[in-house]
Amino acid sequence: MLRANFHTHSTFCDGLNTPEEMVRQALGLGFFALGFSGHMDPDVYMDWDAYAAEVRRLQAAYAGQLDILLGAELDNAWDPATCADAEFVIGSTHYIPVDGELLCVDNTAHILADGCREHFGGDWYALSQAYYEFEAQVVERTGCTFVGHFDLVTRFNDELRTLDEDDPRYLGPAAEAMEHLARHGVPFEINCGAFNRRRKAEMYPRRSLLRVLRELGGQILITSDAHQRELLAGGFDEAVRRAIECGFTHVLVLGHGATGQVEMRELALDTL
Ligand SMILES: [Zn+2]
Ligand SMILES: [Zn+2]
Repeated sequence: MLRANFHTHSTFCDGLNTPEEMVRQALGLGFFALGFSGHMDPDVYMDWDAYAAEVRRLQAAYAGQLDILLGAELDNAWDPATCADAEFVIGSTHYIPVDGELLCVDNTAHILADGCREHFGGDWYALSQAYYEFEAQVVERTGCTFVGHFDLVTRFNDELRTLDEDDPRYLGPAAEAMEHLARHGVPFEINCGAFNRRRKAEMYPRRSLLRVLRELGGQILITSDAHQRELLAGGFDEAVRRAIECGFTHVLVLGHGATGQVEMRELALDTL
């Protein structure tokens, strides 16, 4: 099993457990690294200084036992200055800017369907195209270490079935955004969060897009997007299987290097 996670929420944002409870869970699972990534976005954001102080306290308290990283899940529509001293950043698109407001794609199916009607005349392909046009900017806008849940616009699609995710009207803009982002050399996470919470059968990105990423020479991390300790390693074995199925041989992990800076290294998937 992969014994590290770099997408972890806590009670400082919308998680159910304190950072220290997540650390204890990680130790119980034999993890070598745990990256906290509290939300910094227009709806859910933290008291950054209090959060950073607590993560730094844990880094000192558990030194030698677990490599703890101070990160942020920074929204594409939010200000990077709010978490400027994060050691790593997940660049995530939860909102589409439309008509001078922000439409949230992962709040409720009702909000998204209403937004689609109001701003896109009910055309879900136009909505997904707008999402991917904004998603394509996530590296430039957030300066992220890796790209979060690339195809979050499909959050409710297992339920709503309003997008055919094999239709070129959907896949075209998605692949174009992926190609643009992959050119920056920034890796993508395979995010198990929706799969773990039984919201979706696919992980983010779905396998057809993972194959595109592989063809582009892109790299991956595997994360649980855990909001509760029980799911800290949720879906990892299945994510490893799917990554191998899509042609990947390695997964990236983060950690503090000799100089104290956060570095990335590769682990072979067939050793996990
Ligand atoms: Zn997210
Ligand atoms: Zn998250």
